[in-house]
Amino acid sequence: MVDPDALSEWVAKAAVDFARAGFSIEVASIQYVDASSIDARTRRGRQGLARLGDEDGLHVAVAGPLRRPKRRPPIRGSWLPKQGVIVLSTDASERTLSHEIGHALGLSHERAEQNLMCSCERVAHAEFSAVQLESMSEAITRRFGAR
Ligand SMILES: [Zn+2]
Repeated sequence: MVDPDALSEWVAKAAVDFARAGFSIEVASIQYVDASSIDARTRRGRQGLARLGDEDGLHVAVAGPLRRPKRRPPIRGSWLPKQGVIVLSTDASERTLSHEIGHALGLSHERAEQNLMCSCERVAHAEFSAVQLESMSEAITRRFGAR
């Protein structure tokens, strides 16, 4: 089960990252579900998590840890476009939520370590670029309507 403090940190970080695009990020609701039959370490298992929410908005399932024994890198988050759900590992870093929302809004990976869409975890302060913010802003407006 996710630590509520960790969840607050992830959402607070995403709120700062997306405020630069003029949008707020907030938690609409939290549901605790029995997922004991789901193995979140497998892609199929994570897809099973995706069927759990039906409210409007962007769904985030927290499960895990998603760490795969003996395999690197560990999975910290995953965007499942077909299901429209972000899956976060309970040991995700505070930048993982912003990174996965970036994927949900159409961004691809970047090489620059200072960019939030780098799949690296080394840099403490990473941001979206101005071009990325503009692109996500358009995607949000298309999906959720005008601000
Ligand atoms: Zn990624």
